[in-house]
Amino acid sequence: MTAEGRLLNALRGATAPDRVLDRELDRVAFASDASMYHLVPRAVVLAKDEKEVAAVLAVARAERLPVTFRAAGTSLSGQGVTDGILVEVARHWKGATVEAEGARIRARPGMIGAHLNAILAPHGTRLGPDPSSLAACTLGGILANNSSGPCSGVEQSSYHTLESLKLLLVDGTAVDTAEGDDALRAKAPAIHAGLLALRASLMANEPLRRRVERKYRTKNTTGYGLNALLDFERSVDILAHLMVGSEGTLGFVSEAVLRTVPLLPRTSTAFLLFPSLQGACAGIVPFRSAGTQLVELLDEASLRSIARLPGLPAGLDRLPRGSAALLVQAQGATGDELAEREGAALDAARGLSPMGGAEFSRDARRQAQLLHARKGLYPAVGGQRAAGTSVLLEDVAFPVDRLAEGASDLQGLFRTHGYGDGIIFGHAKDGNLHFLVTQEVGSRPGVDRYARFLDDVVELVVGKHDGALKAEHGTGRNMAPFVEREWGADGIDLMRRIKTLFDPGGILNPGVILPASPRAHLDHLKTTPPVAYEVDRCVECGYCESVCPSRALTLTPRQRIVVQRERARRLEVGDGAGVAALDRGWAYAGLDTCATDGMCATACPVNIDTGSFVIRQRAERRGDLARGVAGFAASAFGLTTTLARLAVRAGALAGLDLPRPGERAPHPSAPGGSKAIYFPSCTSRMFKGDGDPFLKLAARAGMEILVPEGLEGMCCGLAFRSKGFPDAAMAIGGRTRRVLIELSEAHGIPVIADGSSCGLELDEHFPGLTFDSVIFAWKKLLPRLTIRRQVSDLAIHIPCSGHGSDVGPAMREIARAVAGRVFEPTSSGCCGFAGDRGITHPELTASATAPMAQEIRAAGCSRGVGSNLPCQVAMTRATGIEFRGILTVLEEVTR
Ligand SMILES: Cc1cc2nc3c(=O)[nH]c(=O)nc-3n(C[C@H](O)[C@H](O)[C@H](O)COP(=O)(O)OP(=O)(O)OC[C@H]3O[C@@H](n4cnc5c(N)ncnc54)[C@H](O)[C@@H]3O)c2cc1C
Ligand code: SF4
Ligand code: SF4
Repeated sequence: MTAEGRLLNALRGATAPDRVLDRELDRVAFASDASMYHLVPRAVVLAKDEKEVAAVLAVARAERLPVTFRAAGTSLSGQGVTDGILVEVARHWKGATVEAEGARIRARPGMIGAHLNAILAPHGTRLGPDPSSLAACTLGGILANNSSGPCSGVEQSSYHTLESLKLLLVDGTAVDTAEGDDALRAKAPAIHAGLLALRASLMANEPLRRRVERKYRTKNTTGYGLNALLDFERSVDILAHLMVGSEGTLGFVSEAVLRTVPLLPRTSTAFLLFPSLQGACAGIVPFRSAGTQLVELLDEASLRSIARLPGLPAGLDRLPRGSAALLVQAQGATGDELAEREGAALDAARGLSPMGGAEFSRDARRQAQLLHARKGLYPAVGGQRAAGTSVLLEDVAFPVDRLAEGASDLQGLFRTHGYGDGIIFGHAKDGNLHFLVTQEVGSRPGVDRYARFLDDVVELVVGKHDGALKAEHGTGRNMAPFVEREWGADGIDLMRRIKTLFDPGGILNPGVILPASPRAHLDHLKTTPPVAYEVDRCVECGYCESVCPSRALTLTPRQRIVVQRERARRLEVGDGAGVAALDRGWAYAGLDTCATDGMCATACPVNIDTGSFVIRQRAERRGDLARGVAGFAASAFGLTTTLARLAVRAGALAGLDLPRPGERAPHPSAPGGSKAIYFPSCTSRMFKGDGDPFLKLAARAGMEILVPEGLEGMCCGLAFRSKGFPDAAMAIGGRTRRVLIELSEAHGIPVIADGSSCGLELDEHFPGLTFDSVIFAWKKLLPRLTIRRQVSDLAIHIPCSGHGSDVGPAMREIARAVAGRVFEPTSSGCCGFAGDRGITHPELTASATAPMAQEIRAAGCSRGVGSNLPCQVAMTRATGIEFRGILTVLEEVTR
């Protein structure tokens, strides 16, 4: 047996055969995180529990192989990739309990940060660390990177809000720091004694001790958190806090308890312009004194890149050279608290005399626009970069009083090294600046230029300003060679002793934090060969992964993109065998199991809909015969729906698990004074066996509705487009739109679609044409209806097509009106049914719905509602409780 075979056997023995991935496709899919590095693991292990992680560590120790833990893979410094064994520790590591009425939370490391905040919100608290990536990243990653964000500052970071940890040491020893110091001494005497010795060394080294004391007053994630040796006396506390920020190089975190911070939901925001960086930075101290929670700096280049976004002052692309802006937000738990902080912030702002004055806004829409503009910086540069270039995002901190000088020095380095697109922005309150440049790293000159630039950045930040090379993103591979420059010989020596104490064999994420070589930051750089419009804009941030319904079954959107990029690289160098190896399994994993629901675009900072790329690839694979059949089905759509209904009946008779066969479309009618045109989707005409509640509700509310002629032959086209038949989709969708537009214009009334996805599809080609029937029912019908009885409880499933629209609020409002208790799972997302995928690939639906189903069952719900028929079928299958249309339930309780 080969060495590879032996390794795989050992890993399968340590876990389970189906949870060790060794196909080329899967290994490449996990080769990227959000950083600039690309390393293909030898195997990917989907570990399920502590026993399995310990067993994998044993295999790695025996084989002397690197092990890297991987959570959401949103790290920016290369700490989430490896050419050894990659252990995925997100999907099987869910679960959280609120403790002390929300003052603490106990959670497993795979929990997404935003989901934890959703669980805490009813208690009026949230996690302290608030990285911008909170909607995607996990607790494990947050702790291991010592993440923080715009509001957390140092005080509310992971390190400062940690209560206790459960962890595994490299030899498999399980430690719970909540059990205390004696328990640690008994379980891991060498670690216990070693930590005390390390602390003694630091305390005895006066210059280093003072340096540690001073440097951690601002954010710092360069190297190990030496402050743990200073801040705590007991080994057990040092251990817990050293694990924070250790980037998977000291052990595995299997559970954590964190203290929470108050949720401050009331906010007031201002966007202040200044003629210079100095002018803007002069605001930091006054705003900090005023207790302003968010103080974000944007340099002139940043402002130019977002000048056209809505909600910003005009002329941002024509500002005087050197201008800058501060985005500030006052927050409060109550109206009074906000008023006080807003007043103090306004005083501070007026004292600074910003260009154009200081105006705070409490308007939710305006505030969202301003925050969106700040968040838009990354996509603005990343998404519009030249094809083939990579985004290089850095994260440094200057002493706050040197921030303006540091920022303008960085601008000087952009000029020196020819980075004309460089932008600087960041958390000014904490002296933390991010800067972003784009660079082609596929050639020697490109890499050399980046290397020279980075060397100068290091000298500037450390040599000139004594700042931090990494403030919140972690050291990773990218700053590892420069840790010594920042911490000096004694500092790095102490860090090496820490690593040796915990991981003498050096198997835990080697090359991360401590460098593999002095130029290791220039190895394994990710190239981005052109592939397709969607793929080329991707920055591989991973934001899209947690919302993708196929994430746990086959691939995520980012992984689809990463695989296609690697394929292009192999094509470039003529590696035919490599391409063939990658293509094996792609049709199923990449194409067939994509629900083409576009959920990825809703989470993507660059608005990439990987589903569109998939649909095009599907279309390219369709033969003439298939296209001909689709064309016929679209042209004779009435016959198609009738046949589909018959097929569903036959399937039901044969005992297949199919939705109920539908009824014919409602009879056409055009009563005078009609308030809307009703367009029931073809899915509900084929499958909806329990009648059409919308027309009954409208009649009950005394509202006349026009039902068009020829409904049986109409379809929005989505069913054809998503299957890779764009011509058939255009033909039938175009025909349907024409009929609806003519009717809408003739009567001056809107079209109401009963499926959110159909409404979206129609709207995409003719914006403003359609309204969702649930939104219409919420706004126009509910106020005219009498609720005669309530159901006890309802689990609610918002369809993917309803995200980002008013469908969600409409469903919540109607559900609250008709039920005593409403439950919405925090993992709420796309069910993956996607028209017919739930029939052709039921495993996709089962996988996508599993986390939601688990939550709904745990909440003890007895019934559920949705607003799309296929989703209701999927959720019913997954939960075992019946999911019905929300309008069906509304119709029943208003009889
Ligand atoms: C667009 C964008 C914006 C970002 N903004 C911020 C920001 O504002 N602030 C900030 O701090 N960061 C930010 N980040 C960086 C990143 O999102 C955070 O550091 C995040 O906490 C990483 O979490 P993750 O789940 O993705 O972890 P991963 O990237 O998967 O892993 C991170 C590290 O943790 C280790 N690890 C994971 N789980 C465990 C475990 N259970 N036990 C031990 N080690 C483990 C891994 O080995 C790795 O070294 C941003 C990233 C992106 C792409
Ligand atoms: S598709 Fe968008 S969200 Fe997903 S990795 Fe790429 S840029 Fe990030
Ligand atoms: S369209 Fe849906 S299933 Fe396909 S990659 Fe995007 S989120 Fe995943």
